[in-house]
Amino acid sequence: MTYHPATGPIGAEGRYWDALIEGRLELPRCASCGTWHWPAVWRCGACGSWDHEWVEQPIEGSVFTYTRTHHGFGGTEAFAKPFSTLVVALRTVPIRLVGVLDPDDAALKIGAPVTGAIGRTRFGDADVPALRWRLA
Ligand SMILES: [Zn+2]
Repeated sequence: MTYHPATGPIGAEGRYWDALIEGRLELPRCASCGTWHWPAVWRCGACGSWDHEWVEQPIEGSVFTYTRTHHGFGGTEAFAKPFSTLVVALRTVPIRLVGVLDPDDAALKIGAPVTGAIGRTRFGDADVPALRWRLA
């Protein structure tokens, strides 16, 4: 995924970032064969089509895996330590997305159901749209 702090969304996934900024999660599906793609691609690897449709999805799923960070590093200044970064398997499509658990929760475990919201992450001088997860 690419989001340039100065110019905003770029690349095949530009629509993803535009939708997040507008408050929606949208993901791409091949308009010809129906294959979901993430990260976004210009051309479907399954059938060769260049046509994709972006479909709004509920921001919910289950924890596929996670890591808890106890010590800060560049780009994590905005998060209280420790914080947990999740890879979430979405409930409605075969795609996994990354985001921070907010608030952090000691009950976090693999397989736990989560719901998400669209927040902002301070990165350098820019606010970047980002998924925030919460245990359901
Ligand atoms: Zn296809």
